[in-house]
Amino acid sequence: MAKRRLSLQQRRRIGTNRERALERLDTDNPDHVSTERAGLVTARYGREADVVDPEHPEQPRQRCYLRTHLEPVVGDRVLWQSGGRRGVITAVAPRRSVLRRRDNNQVRILAANIDQVGIVIAPEPEPHANLVDRFLAAAELEGMSALILVNKCDLGSAAGRQAVDAICASHGALGYPVLRVSAHTGAGIDELRARLSGQVSIFCGQSGVGKSSLINRLFPGTDATVGALSDSGAKGRHTTTTARFYPVPGGAVIDSPGIREFGVECPDPQRLMAGFIELAPLAMQCRFRDCAHREDPGCAIVAAILRGEVDPRRLVSFHQLRTAP
Ligand code: GDP
Ligand code: ZN
Repeated sequence: MAKRRLSLQQRRRIGTNRERALERLDTDNPDHVSTERAGLVTARYGREADVVDPEHPEQPRQRCYLRTHLEPVVGDRVLWQSGGRRGVITAVAPRRSVLRRRDNNQVRILAANIDQVGIVIAPEPEPHANLVDRFLAAAELEGMSALILVNKCDLGSAAGRQAVDAICASHGALGYPVLRVSAHTGAGIDELRARLSGQVSIFCGQSGVGKSSLINRLFPGTDATVGALSDSGAKGRHTTTTARFYPVPGGAVIDSPGIREFGVECPDPQRLMAGFIELAPLAMQCRFRDCAHREDPGCAIVAAILRGEVDPRRLVSFHQLRTAP
Protein backbone atom coordinates (compact mmCIF):
# COMPACT_ATOMS: atom_id res chain seq x y z
CA MET A 1 0.00 0.00 0.00
CA ALA A 2 1.31 3.44 0.75
CA LYS A 3 4.95 4.29 0.74
CA ARG A 4 5.76 5.68 4.10
CA ARG A 5 8.84 7.15 5.60
CA LEU A 6 9.82 5.26 8.70
CA SER A 7 12.58 6.18 11.05
CA LEU A 8 15.34 3.69 11.60
CA GLN A 9 14.03 3.14 15.11
CA GLN A 10 10.53 2.43 13.83
CA ARG A 11 11.88 -0.02 11.30
CA ARG A 12 13.90 -1.82 13.96
CA ARG A 13 10.89 -1.99 16.21
CA ILE A 14 8.67 -3.34 13.45
CA GLY A 15 11.42 -5.82 12.57
CA THR A 16 11.61 -7.27 16.07
CA ASN A 17 7.83 -7.25 16.54
CA ARG A 18 7.42 -9.11 13.30
CA GLU A 19 9.98 -11.71 14.35
CA ARG A 20 8.13 -12.19 17.60
CA ALA A 21 4.81 -12.53 15.80
CA LEU A 22 6.25 -15.15 13.50
CA GLU A 23 7.79 -17.04 16.41
CA ARG A 24 4.46 -17.04 18.18
CA LEU A 25 2.79 -18.17 15.03
CA ASP A 26 5.19 -21.10 14.70
CA THR A 27 4.65 -22.34 18.21
CA ASP A 28 0.91 -21.69 18.26
CA ASN A 29 0.31 -23.28 15.05
CA PRO A 30 3.02 -25.52 13.65
CA ASP A 31 0.83 -27.35 11.15
CA HIS A 32 -1.18 -24.60 9.65
CA VAL A 33 1.31 -21.97 8.70
CA SER A 34 1.11 -22.91 5.06
CA THR A 35 -2.67 -22.57 4.95
CA GLU A 36 -2.72 -19.16 6.52
CA ARG A 37 -3.52 -16.18 4.43
CA ALA A 38 -2.94 -12.52 4.82
CA GLY A 39 -6.00 -10.47 5.65
CA LEU A 40 -6.96 -6.90 6.30
CA VAL A 41 -9.53 -6.29 9.02
CA THR A 42 -12.48 -4.25 7.82
CA ALA A 43 -14.77 -4.47 10.84
CA ARG A 44 -14.82 -5.84 14.35
CA TYR A 45 -17.87 -7.22 16.14
CA GLY A 46 -17.27 -8.51 19.66
CA ARG A 47 -15.11 -11.62 19.32
CA GLU A 48 -15.48 -11.69 15.54
CA ALA A 49 -14.03 -9.63 12.74
CA ASP A 50 -14.35 -9.30 8.98
CA VAL A 51 -11.29 -9.62 6.79
CA VAL A 52 -10.61 -9.04 3.12
CA ASP A 53 -7.70 -9.94 0.90
CA PRO A 54 -5.36 -6.93 1.22
CA GLU A 55 -4.53 -7.16 -2.47
CA HIS A 56 -8.20 -7.32 -3.48
CA PRO A 57 -10.13 -5.45 -0.82
CA GLU A 58 -13.10 -5.12 -3.16
CA GLN A 59 -13.73 -8.86 -2.97
CA PRO A 60 -16.21 -10.28 -0.44
CA ARG A 61 -15.38 -10.20 3.24
CA GLN A 62 -14.85 -13.25 5.36
CA ARG A 63 -16.21 -13.31 8.90
CA CYS A 64 -13.67 -14.75 11.35
CA TYR A 65 -13.47 -15.77 14.96
CA LEU A 66 -10.52 -14.51 16.95
CA ARG A 67 -7.93 -16.67 18.58
CA THR A 68 -7.73 -15.97 22.31
CA HIS A 69 -5.90 -12.81 23.37
CA LEU A 70 -5.99 -11.33 19.90
CA GLU A 71 -7.60 -7.93 19.67
CA PRO A 72 -7.52 -6.93 16.03
CA VAL A 73 -9.02 -3.59 15.04
CA VAL A 74 -10.06 -2.11 11.72
CA GLY A 75 -7.01 -1.69 9.51
CA ASP A 76 -5.01 -4.47 11.14
CA ARG A 77 -3.01 -6.81 8.97
CA VAL A 78 -3.64 -10.34 10.13
CA LEU A 79 -3.14 -13.98 9.28
CA TRP A 80 -6.25 -16.08 9.09
CA GLN A 81 -7.32 -19.58 8.20
CA SER A 82 -10.52 -20.57 6.57
CA GLY A 83 -12.71 -23.16 8.26
CA GLY A 84 -16.35 -23.62 7.40
CA ARG A 85 -18.55 -20.57 7.48
CA ARG A 86 -16.21 -18.67 9.74
CA GLY A 87 -12.46 -18.31 9.49
CA VAL A 88 -10.09 -17.83 12.41
CA ILE A 89 -7.69 -14.96 12.85
CA THR A 90 -4.47 -16.44 14.17
CA ALA A 91 -2.03 -13.54 14.33
CA VAL A 92 -2.03 -9.77 14.18
CA ALA A 93 0.93 -8.05 12.53
CA PRO A 94 2.75 -5.22 14.29
CA ARG A 95 1.01 -1.89 13.81
CA ARG A 96 2.54 1.08 12.03
CA SER A 97 0.10 3.51 13.57
CA VAL A 98 -2.93 3.47 15.83
CA LEU A 99 -5.90 5.70 16.44
CA ARG A 100 -7.12 5.83 19.98
CA ARG A 101 -10.13 6.99 21.79
CA ARG A 102 -10.50 7.77 25.44
CA ASP A 103 -13.44 6.00 27.05
CA ASN A 104 -13.95 6.84 30.72
CA ASN A 105 -10.25 7.35 31.27
CA GLN A 106 -9.42 4.20 29.38
CA VAL A 107 -7.70 4.54 26.07
CA ARG A 108 -9.01 2.17 23.47
CA ILE A 109 -7.45 1.48 20.09
CA LEU A 110 -9.99 1.96 17.32
CA ALA A 111 -8.03 1.50 14.14
CA ALA A 112 -4.54 0.59 13.02
CA ASN A 113 -2.19 1.17 10.12
CA ILE A 114 -3.86 4.32 8.95
CA ASP A 115 -1.67 6.25 6.53
CA GLN A 116 -3.62 9.42 6.16
CA VAL A 117 -6.07 11.45 8.20
CA GLY A 118 -8.45 13.62 6.21
CA ILE A 119 -9.46 16.39 8.58
CA VAL A 120 -12.77 17.68 7.30
CA ILE A 121 -13.84 21.22 8.12
CA ALA A 122 -16.54 23.43 6.67
CA PRO A 123 -17.82 26.98 7.04
CA GLU A 124 -20.80 25.41 8.76
CA PRO A 125 -20.67 24.16 11.48
CA GLU A 126 -17.99 26.71 12.23
CA PRO A 127 -14.60 25.05 12.62
CA HIS A 128 -12.57 24.98 15.80
CA ALA A 129 -8.90 25.44 15.09
CA ASN A 130 -8.14 23.66 18.33
CA LEU A 131 -9.87 20.51 17.11
CA VAL A 132 -7.90 20.65 13.86
CA ASP A 133 -4.71 20.97 15.91
CA ARG A 134 -5.70 17.98 17.98
CA PHE A 135 -6.16 15.82 14.89
CA LEU A 136 -2.93 17.13 13.39
CA ALA A 137 -0.97 16.42 16.57
CA ALA A 138 -2.34 12.89 16.73
CA ALA A 139 -1.42 12.36 13.07
CA GLU A 140 2.11 13.68 13.59
CA LEU A 141 2.68 11.58 16.67
CA GLU A 142 1.55 8.43 14.92
CA GLY A 143 3.44 9.09 11.71
CA MET A 144 0.28 9.50 9.65
CA SER A 145 0.03 12.16 7.01
CA ALA A 146 -2.71 14.74 7.28
CA LEU A 147 -4.84 16.43 4.68
CA ILE A 148 -7.16 19.32 5.46
CA LEU A 149 -10.39 18.98 3.52
CA VAL A 150 -12.51 22.08 3.33
CA ASN A 151 -15.96 20.83 2.42
CA LYS A 152 -19.01 22.90 1.45
CA CYS A 153 -16.84 25.23 -0.60
CA ASP A 154 -20.07 25.94 -2.52
CA LEU A 155 -21.41 27.83 0.48
CA GLY A 156 -21.22 31.57 0.00
CA SER A 157 -20.50 34.12 2.63
CA ALA A 158 -21.21 32.13 5.75
CA ALA A 159 -19.80 33.50 8.95
CA GLY A 160 -17.67 30.40 9.27
CA ARG A 161 -15.90 31.26 6.04
CA GLN A 162 -13.41 33.53 7.79
CA ALA A 163 -12.62 30.85 10.34
CA VAL A 164 -12.06 28.35 7.53
CA ASP A 165 -9.78 30.74 5.67
CA ALA A 166 -7.77 31.43 8.81
CA ILE A 167 -7.23 27.72 9.38
CA CYS A 168 -6.28 27.16 5.74
CA ALA A 169 -3.78 30.02 5.83
CA SER A 170 -2.22 29.01 9.12
CA HIS A 171 -2.03 25.27 8.50
CA GLY A 172 -1.27 25.62 4.82
CA ALA A 173 1.76 27.72 5.79
CA LEU A 174 2.93 24.85 7.99
CA GLY A 175 2.98 22.64 4.92
CA TYR A 176 -0.24 20.71 5.41
CA PRO A 177 -2.05 20.18 2.14
CA VAL A 178 -5.41 21.91 1.96
CA LEU A 179 -8.02 20.76 -0.51
CA ARG A 180 -11.29 22.61 -1.10
CA VAL A 181 -14.12 20.31 -2.05
CA SER A 182 -17.88 20.20 -2.22
CA ALA A 183 -19.78 17.00 -1.69
CA HIS A 184 -22.79 18.76 -3.20
CA THR A 185 -21.32 20.17 -6.43
CA GLY A 186 -18.51 17.64 -6.82
CA ALA A 187 -15.83 20.35 -6.89
CA GLY A 188 -12.42 18.97 -5.98
CA ILE A 189 -13.66 15.39 -5.73
CA ASP A 190 -11.42 14.04 -8.50
CA GLU A 191 -8.39 15.48 -6.81
CA LEU A 192 -9.52 14.06 -3.50
CA ARG A 193 -9.96 10.66 -5.09
CA ALA A 194 -6.42 10.84 -6.44
CA ARG A 195 -5.09 11.69 -2.99
CA LEU A 196 -6.87 8.73 -1.45
CA SER A 197 -5.50 6.10 -3.77
CA GLY A 198 -2.64 3.92 -2.57
CA GLN A 199 -3.32 4.68 1.09
CA VAL A 200 -5.55 3.76 3.98
CA SER A 201 -7.34 6.93 4.99
CA ILE A 202 -9.92 8.02 7.48
CA PHE A 203 -11.99 11.16 7.61
CA CYS A 204 -12.46 12.91 10.87
CA GLY A 205 -14.00 16.16 11.94
CA GLN A 206 -16.97 17.64 13.71
CA SER A 207 -20.37 16.20 13.15
CA GLY A 208 -22.18 17.93 10.31
CA VAL A 209 -19.15 18.96 8.24
CA GLY A 210 -20.13 16.49 5.52
CA LYS A 211 -18.03 13.37 6.02
CA SER A 212 -20.88 11.03 5.04
CA SER A 213 -21.75 13.23 2.09
CA LEU A 214 -18.14 13.09 0.90
CA ILE A 215 -18.13 9.30 1.19
CA ASN A 216 -21.36 9.11 -0.80
CA ARG A 217 -19.93 11.39 -3.46
CA LEU A 218 -16.68 9.41 -3.62
CA PHE A 219 -18.34 6.01 -3.60
CA PRO A 220 -21.64 6.32 -5.40
CA GLY A 221 -24.10 3.59 -4.64
CA THR A 222 -22.98 3.29 -1.04
CA ASP A 223 -25.16 4.30 1.81
CA ALA A 224 -23.29 6.44 4.31
CA THR A 225 -26.13 8.08 6.16
CA VAL A 226 -26.27 11.81 5.80
CA GLY A 227 -27.59 13.61 8.84
CA ALA A 228 -29.51 16.81 8.41
CA LEU A 229 -28.30 19.85 10.27
CA SER A 230 -30.69 20.53 13.08
CA ASP A 231 -32.80 23.68 12.93
CA SER A 232 -31.34 25.07 16.11
CA GLY A 233 -28.30 26.31 14.25
CA ALA A 234 -25.28 24.63 12.79
CA LYS A 235 -25.02 21.71 15.14
CA GLY A 236 -24.85 18.48 13.22
CA ARG A 237 -26.52 15.22 14.09
CA HIS A 238 -24.55 12.15 13.46
CA THR A 239 -26.19 9.02 12.33
CA THR A 240 -23.65 6.49 11.11
CA THR A 241 -23.58 3.54 13.48
CA THR A 242 -21.20 0.88 12.16
CA ALA A 243 -17.71 1.09 10.72
CA ARG A 244 -17.54 0.96 6.96
CA PHE A 245 -14.70 0.15 4.70
CA TYR A 246 -14.46 1.48 1.16
CA PRO A 247 -11.76 0.08 -1.12
CA VAL A 248 -9.87 2.52 -3.35
CA PRO A 249 -7.11 1.55 -5.79
CA GLY A 250 -4.28 0.26 -3.62
CA GLY A 251 -5.92 1.31 -0.38
CA ALA A 252 -9.13 2.09 1.42
CA VAL A 253 -11.17 4.69 3.21
CA ILE A 254 -12.39 3.63 6.64
CA ASP A 255 -15.40 5.38 8.04
CA SER A 256 -16.16 4.59 11.64
CA PRO A 257 -18.42 6.46 14.02
CA GLY A 258 -15.88 6.01 16.79
CA ILE A 259 -13.15 7.60 14.77
CA ARG A 260 -14.83 10.28 12.78
CA GLU A 261 -15.52 12.72 15.59
CA PHE A 262 -13.57 11.63 18.62
CA GLY A 263 -11.22 8.88 17.72
CA VAL A 264 -8.03 10.78 17.32
CA GLU A 265 -6.80 10.93 20.85
CA CYS A 266 -3.71 12.86 21.72
CA PRO A 267 -1.13 10.83 23.57
CA ASP A 268 0.65 11.82 26.72
CA PRO A 269 1.48 15.46 27.38
CA GLN A 270 5.20 14.81 27.45
CA ARG A 271 5.19 13.82 23.84
CA LEU A 272 2.53 16.28 22.77
CA MET A 273 5.01 18.93 21.64
CA ALA A 274 6.20 16.59 18.91
CA GLY A 275 2.71 16.87 17.44
CA PHE A 276 3.25 20.57 16.70
CA ILE A 277 5.70 20.54 13.84
CA GLU A 278 6.76 24.17 13.98
CA LEU A 279 6.87 24.43 17.79
CA ALA A 280 8.83 21.25 18.52
CA PRO A 281 12.19 22.44 17.12
CA LEU A 282 11.80 25.79 18.92
CA ALA A 283 11.06 24.06 22.22
CA MET A 284 14.52 22.51 22.06
CA GLN A 285 15.99 26.01 22.15
CA CYS A 286 14.19 27.25 25.26
CA ARG A 287 16.61 28.31 27.97
CA PHE A 288 15.20 25.89 30.52
CA ARG A 289 14.64 22.27 29.76
CA ASP A 290 11.44 22.29 31.78
CA CYS A 291 10.20 25.47 30.12
CA ALA A 292 6.42 25.64 30.35
CA HIS A 293 6.33 27.91 27.26
CA ARG A 294 4.28 30.50 29.09
CA GLU A 295 6.02 33.39 30.85
CA ASP A 296 9.30 31.58 31.24
CA PRO A 297 12.44 33.63 30.58
CA GLY A 298 14.23 32.53 27.45
CA CYS A 299 11.25 30.70 25.95
CA ALA A 300 12.09 30.29 22.28
CA ILE A 301 8.47 29.70 21.29
CA VAL A 302 7.24 32.90 22.89
CA ALA A 303 10.17 34.75 21.30
CA ALA A 304 9.22 33.40 17.88
CA ILE A 305 5.63 34.49 18.45
CA LEU A 306 6.79 37.98 19.38
CA ARG A 307 8.84 38.10 16.17
CA GLY A 308 5.68 37.19 14.28
CA GLU A 309 7.13 33.90 13.06
CA VAL A 310 4.70 31.57 14.77
CA ASP A 311 0.92 31.67 14.97
CA PRO A 312 0.18 32.25 18.67
CA ARG A 313 -3.03 30.26 18.30
CA ARG A 314 -1.00 27.09 17.91
CA LEU A 315 0.64 27.59 21.28
CA VAL A 316 -2.81 28.17 22.75
CA SER A 317 -3.91 24.85 21.22
CA PHE A 318 -0.87 23.14 22.67
CA HIS A 319 -1.66 24.40 26.15
CA GLN A 320 -5.32 23.45 25.82
CA LEU A 321 -4.46 19.92 24.76
CA ARG A 322 -1.85 19.56 27.44
CA THR A 323 -4.16 20.56 30.23
CA ALA A 324 -7.31 18.89 28.91
CA PRO A 325 -6.26 15.99 26.71
P1 GDP B 1 -21.22 14.35 8.77
O1 GDP B 1 -21.90 14.43 10.09
O2 GDP B 1 -19.83 14.95 8.84
O3 GDP B 1 -21.20 13.00 8.19
O4 GDP B 1 -22.03 15.32 7.78
P2 GDP B 1 -23.16 14.93 6.70
O5 GDP B 1 -22.55 14.29 5.51
O6 GDP B 1 -24.22 14.19 7.43
O7 GDP B 1 -23.65 16.37 6.25
C1 GDP B 1 -24.25 17.30 7.14
C2 GDP B 1 -25.09 18.32 6.35
O8 GDP B 1 -24.25 19.10 5.51
C3 GDP B 1 -26.11 17.67 5.45
O9 GDP B 1 -27.29 18.44 5.51
C4 GDP B 1 -25.49 17.74 4.07
O10 GDP B 1 -26.47 17.80 3.06
C5 GDP B 1 -24.71 19.04 4.17
N1 GDP B 1 -23.56 19.04 3.24
C6 GDP B 1 -22.64 18.07 3.11
N2 GDP B 1 -21.73 18.39 2.16
C7 GDP B 1 -22.09 19.60 1.67
C8 GDP B 1 -21.56 20.46 0.65
O11 GDP B 1 -20.56 20.20 -0.01
N3 GDP B 1 -22.21 21.65 0.47
C9 GDP B 1 -23.31 22.00 1.18
N4 GDP B 1 -23.87 23.18 0.91
N5 GDP B 1 -23.85 21.21 2.13
C10 GDP B 1 -23.26 20.02 2.37
ZN1 ZN C 1 9.62 27.57 26.06
